[in-house]
Amino acid sequence: MSMEFHRRLPNPDEVRQTYPLSPAAAERKAERDREIADVFTGASDRFLLIIGPCSADYEESVMDYVNRLAKVQEKVRDKVLIIPRVYTNKPRTTGDGYKGMVHQPDPNGKPDMLAGLLAIRSLHARVVTETGLTSADEMLYPENYQYLSDLLSYVAIGARSVEDQQHRLTSSGIDVPVGMKNPSCGDLSVMLNSIMAAQHPHTFIYQGWEVSTTGNPLAHAVLRGSIDNDGKCIPNYHYEDLSKLYEAYAAKGLSNLACVVDTNHYNSNKKFDEQVRIAKEVLHSRRHSDDIRRMVKGLMIESYLVDGNQKIGGNCYGQSITDPCLGWEKSEKLICDVADAL
Ligand code: PEP
Ligand code: MN
Repeated sequence: MSMEFHRRLPNPDEVRQTYPLSPAAAERKAERDREIADVFTGASDRFLLIIGPCSADYEESVMDYVNRLAKVQEKVRDKVLIIPRVYTNKPRTTGDGYKGMVHQPDPNGKPDMLAGLLAIRSLHARVVTETGLTSADEMLYPENYQYLSDLLSYVAIGARSVEDQQHRLTSSGIDVPVGMKNPSCGDLSVMLNSIMAAQHPHTFIYQGWEVSTTGNPLAHAVLRGSIDNDGKCIPNYHYEDLSKLYEAYAAKGLSNLACVVDTNHYNSNKKFDEQVRIAKEVLHSRRHSDDIRRMVKGLMIESYLVDGNQKIGGNCYGQSITDPCLGWEKSEKLICDVADAL
């Protein structure tokens, strides 16, 4: 085998014990989890905005961004619940490129998985201790989820992972909402099957243990658009798409029918500026139909300090090194416009 084993890494328990969350921060996280769960169960009609950079590249600019979000959260708190996107694991279409802070705590440096694990834990912990917000991340590697399980308030299963059994079974043991994205090909049944799998209990092998789960009733859908065989991008945020999802979803008899619309990726064809128009169109569709209003619980928006993106190694502070993002001023305005339009 040509795989070299470099060093044994500390397991999640060891890392959590070495870098514990303070009791006050843990209490705040529990409170936020209740508020967010209330949105998915329908007990609260606040609207979710899962918003932040495509990738959490540099701790300093990400914390700068999240601190700004926390101030806006205060302004819109009656109507909107903000969950910062702090995405530390990045799936790559071809496997090449920046794989996130967990691989490269310094995006310009070599991969260092131990430093990466500590860096992502430290970043998520800073979010809750310094801002009182708690973050969303993608669970790219189910085995690694436990390194962050006491810190995350929202977990996304990406378009490239949603058909994978280990992701689905692990999601069934997560006690915060898990958003199942539609796969790159756009097949809604793959996403709905994934929600069903995550909502059911399972017994399986996890980190060398036999484990069992109770099922996650907060697993739900995330629409992110798709790409066809000719490479053409096909959005799925329009009224007709939401109606189609509602029909198919309701027929499955799942708990807490809910969906989040991702305004970037193949919904915008990565034209980041379009996210403003897409967000407003989704709000319009919600006003037009009670079923759609109840189903669409929020939006996922790619946003950072500076519009657009740059190549890795670029030196523009607060500009994405992965997907292009909406800059701060436009993002702040969008959050306030969303609150006003609800
Ligand atoms: C992302 O959220 O940045 C992402 C990679 O999403 P998707 O899995 O939808 O491509
Ligand atoms: Mn992205």
